[in-house]
Amino acid sequence: MDSVELLQKLVQIPSPNPPGDTVDIANFIAESMRNIGCDVRMPAPDEKPEAINVVATLGDGAPVIMLHAHIDTVPIADSEASKWSVDPYAAVVKDGALYGKGSIDDKAPLASMMLTMIEASKQETLNGTLVLVAAAEEEVGGQLGTKWMAENGHLPECDFIVVGEQTANKVATAHKGVMRCTVTTTGKSVHATNPNRGINAISAMAKIVLALEGYHNELAKRVHPIVGFPTCNVGVIQGGSTANAVPDTCVIKIDRRMIPREIPEVVQSELRHVVESVDVNPAQATVDQWIFSSWFDSPLDSDLSQAFLQSVRDILDDEPGPIGYLPGSDAKHLMDLAKGDMIIFGPGSYEVAHAFDEHVRLDDYQATTDILLDFVKKTIYK
Ligand SMILES: [Zn+2]
Repeated sequence: MDSVELLQKLVQIPSPNPPGDTVDIANFIAESMRNIGCDVRMPAPDEKPEAINVVATLGDGAPVIMLHAHIDTVPIADSEASKWSVDPYAAVVKDGALYGKGSIDDKAPLASMMLTMIEASKQETLNGTLVLVAAAEEEVGGQLGTKWMAENGHLPECDFIVVGEQTANKVATAHKGVMRCTVTTTGKSVHATNPNRGINAISAMAKIVLALEGYHNELAKRVHPIVGFPTCNVGVIQGGSTANAVPDTCVIKIDRRMIPREIPEVVQSELRHVVESVDVNPAQATVDQWIFSSWFDSPLDSDLSQAFLQSVRDILDDEPGPIGYLPGSDAKHLMDLAKGDMIIFGPGSYEVAHAFDEHVRLDDYQATTDILLDFVKKTIYK
């Protein structure tokens, strides 16, 4: 099977999440890796046994290099289905690109990593360990995928980790984290003929929304060199039921992006402070329903990092970065296993992911494979 056929095969095995059933694609990857002599494990959590992961290992000893890609994709949304110019699961090749759901996110990086494993398996022995992790559940946050594997002893500590995502073959070393919460204002509903008898929860919330906008503007002063500044966005507002009554509740949902090194507890108390310092009296305001996912960042000071950067320079004749990666990734769940550096790396842009006519340029995909292979040859070939 050549590299294009391998990627086609992966795209032709649908793995949308939800529902997140990765049995078929995991079986295909596991069999391919067993055929080249890997030790293959297929861990899956009891809570979701159909979300099967694959962990395939070649060689032993240090350094331990992990190649990680996710095997689930987003589903095809109703709004997008009619816009595809090709069958999203046919893996059509045209004009130098391969089209399909999951083609770039994340099956091209996965295929490049599998090809690297296949090449490395041709060596009689390796001077280290190469671990391919094909992870389920990334598209829904990774709680039952990479996070579960990392916390339950299914993944080794690593000297270097490559998380495959769309970085245009640049080396990404940081992404933001997310803090979400819900704010509710409570007032008193009366007939709109005499609003002064009631307490308007929407008016109270309006003041809070403006305060949050001020907070967002303040955050622009905290610049991270790679991922920019933190942000605060009010994404949802709901309140009232009819124009002729004073509304007694209003709810907003907040999305606060954290830059690396921001402490979640501090961010939480900042948000509370912004809300609580608005005078909404006699209405009441409460903050709850916190959801948190971590940022990630990594220095690039190890020899392995320098070797990777050099592989990018050699293959692409271009500066490798570092850059930031705007969407989140499973890297955040691997921080405790990364004894050395961790990077996010892969072909193309996340902007063509999660959309109709998702595709990967074949030359970009080839470059990803060439770079991974060059790096592995330099570092763990005897
Ligand atoms: Zn992805």
